[in-house]
Amino acid sequence: MRIGIYGGSFNPVHRGHKHLADTMCAKLNLDKCIIMPAFVSPFKTDKKSSVTAQDRFRMCELAFSEANYEVSDLEIAKNETSYTVNTLTALKERYPDDELFLIIGSDMLLSFNRWYRWQDILKLATLCAVSRCDEDPLQELEDFAESHLRKEGEVLILPFSPLVVSSTLLREKLKNGEDTSAFLHPAVKDYIQQNNLYIEG
Ligand code: ATP
Repeated sequence: MRIGIYGGSFNPVHRGHKHLADTMCAKLNLDKCIIMPAFVSPFKTDKKSSVTAQDRFRMCELAFSEANYEVSDLEIAKNETSYTVNTLTALKERYPDDELFLIIGSDMLLSFNRWYRWQDILKLATLCAVSRCDEDPLQELEDFAESHLRKEGEVLILPFSPLVVSSTLLREKLKNGEDTSAFLHPAVKDYIQQNNLYIEG
């Protein structure tokens, strides 16, 4: 099988995330894609935030409900900051004969060579990066991959028309009571409303 792994804080998960994952499933011909909400250290979260890891996990389940997606609690269940290399090692043990594809946005690519044991990550999975905004110069990403990363493993830079939105923008909109329908799955929007999430902080 060809298995995608797509991690993030997903705080909250939005249509930009879904658009990226759907596009990668099609472009990379993935048999399945594992959505991996990250544990966020209690030291990093906003003290006023009422959003728990379980909330972020549940919102991912609502947004990624199709059969080709699996939302994994591998990272949040550990209750400590996870390193991608450890997550991929665990997945490789679970799927020894399958091909793993790690999906990231371009903002992550340009600092990838500072990730913990990034060389080992590239031995465990093919890194697949897409531009996050239309202005991202693909050539710059290509050059970076070529000069810094490809000596250690396979890196794909894929053309992509992103939906320009971020969780930061949505947290701000939700706090201000602005309409977020264009950017949130209806079930996620309902979940946020029912649980009074993102109304302060
Ligand atoms: P925040 O605004 O809180 O930093 P975010 O919107 O960037 O959050 P994350 O959960 O941090 O979302 O992102 C997870 C992954 O998805 C990262 O690899 C990021 O580059 C990518 N990503 C996030 N938003 C988009 C988008 N609109 N289009 C393409 N990739 C995205």
